[in-house]
Amino acid sequence: MKLILMGPPGAGKGTQAEKLIDLYQIPHISTGDMFRKAQKEGTALGLQAKSYMDQGQLVPDEVTIGIVRERLSEDDCKNGFLLDGFPRTVQQADALDGILTDLGMSLDAVVDIQVNKDFLVERLTGRRVCKACGATYHVSFNAPKVENVCDKCGGELYQRNDDKIETVSNRLDVYAAQTAPLIEYYQSKGMIKSIDGSKSVEEVLADIQAALGSK
Ligand code: ADP
Ligand code: AMP
Repeated sequence: MKLILMGPPGAGKGTQAEKLIDLYQIPHISTGDMFRKAQKEGTALGLQAKSYMDQGQLVPDEVTIGIVRERLSEDDCKNGFLLDGFPRTVQQADALDGILTDLGMSLDAVVDIQVNKDFLVERLTGRRVCKACGATYHVSFNAPKVENVCDKCGGELYQRNDDKIETVSNRLDVYAAQTAPLIEYYQSKGMIKSIDGSKSVEEVLADIQAALGSK
């Protein structure tokens, strides 16, 4: 299964990705996670990405496209992958087409998770992430059993810098201006599966599975 998960920040892409990669046994390729890992490790890539991420801006296309090309060329992507948070611009989508052609691959589907803006702000500002394993929680909708402690690994939960209210509305504007046009881009290729992301996590997962059918 070769899949793109699209949708605005906070739509539930990472939450669904955690489940879909188990179901389909494919690697999860999240450019946001890759940038956060690079920052944690203090690499040049991490430093380069930090200023953009802190402001809710996109990291420049040439940087982002380069890391995705490298990652998709790895052996574990041969039988499938789930791209989460990439592509985010038309230039990235065009580059992805070229990368897949070079690798002799083609996409099976683009799942677009749709959620309205009020919900997104609530989801983003209440999101908490495990420092150790990256698992995602929400203070109200998906609270850990013990406050600020990861159910899965016992790690400490934190709030992403870019999930503070000051940055959230900027990220939603960037999505509307630069990423939303990709819905039409993939619609014109007949690849989009639109999913109502305002339902519960389990319902959204079931709808995605139904939309993907026997792919
Ligand atoms: P994205 O990866 O699209 O930015 P996340 O998967 O991190 O979004 O979800 C954003 C926040 O919303 C998280 O705190 C997550 O726990 C919560 N969330 C995800 N899906 C749902 C849902 N269907 N209903 C309620 N809250 C959700
Ligand atoms: P995410 O984890 O997907 O919410 O991404 C967090 C931040 O990482 C974004 O706000 C961007 O600054 C950066 N980022 C992630 N993916 C991309 C991408 N495909 N293109 C440019 N910037 C990205």
